[in-house]
Amino acid sequence: MIGFFIFLFGLIIGSFLNAALYRLEVGGSLVKERSRCPLCGHILKWYELLPVLSFLIQKRKCRSCGGKISFQYPLVELLTGFLFLSTFLYIWAGLSFQGIIDVVYIFTVLSFIILIFVFDLKHYIIPNIAVYSLITISFFYSLYFYSFSEILFYILAAFLASGFFLLLYVVSSGKWIGMGDVKYGVFMGFFLGWPKILIGLFIAYIVGALVGVMLMAFEKKNIKSEIPFGPFLIVGTLTAYFFGMDILSWYLNLAY
Ligand SMILES: [Zn+2]
Repeated sequence: MIGFFIFLFGLIIGSFLNAALYRLEVGGSLVKERSRCPLCGHILKWYELLPVLSFLIQKRKCRSCGGKISFQYPLVELLTGFLFLSTFLYIWAGLSFQGIIDVVYIFTVLSFIILIFVFDLKHYIIPNIAVYSLITISFFYSLYFYSFSEILFYILAAFLASGFFLLLYVVSSGKWIGMGDVKYGVFMGFFLGWPKILIGLFIAYIVGALVGVMLMAFEKKNIKSEIPFGPFLIVGTLTAYFFGMDILSWYLNLAY
């Protein structure tokens, strides 16, 4: 039952993330301005703002102008719902101060991650506000909950990831990787720590290479085309977060 409410909560946050993405794209205040149809400017009523449902009931169309609503809206809502639910089931250890803080922390992190994922995919830019928020939140979380020697390993992981990206950035004069990825590396380290950061980077590069080869095979992109790296870093981050230790022990068993 609680799982259902967490999923529902994720859908609502997803709908809010769509609004935030729209504001990042066109400007204006997120809190003061009403949600509008991006095509005709018609102010949406409450029943046109129901996550996923309104999209299905209205058959992808704006009730005012009949224009097509982007699939981004229900997809982001569903993605947020599923990610919230699966992380909740993964970390929930019962009602306690630490338990509640952990859930709030991970839901906040996921929200910013989803924002970056979609924005980078569409515009090839990682928004500063999102990545700075992630760095700040993950840094203070580590500071509060980890011992001094543990924190050192988190800082090491942050330096490793961002330092590696910065090197790629400098060597390629920003062609292979963007400054946003370098900043994201700092968060990735603080969030995953050592040695999960290695798994995260490894997965990001493997998935990135596979998708790159597939896009070239289908001739959607050539070798010179730009592909945003942020979404792959995020896939790496989440895979390492959930399965990092399993992957590591599987690999070590294989190696020895
Ligand atoms: Zn419209």
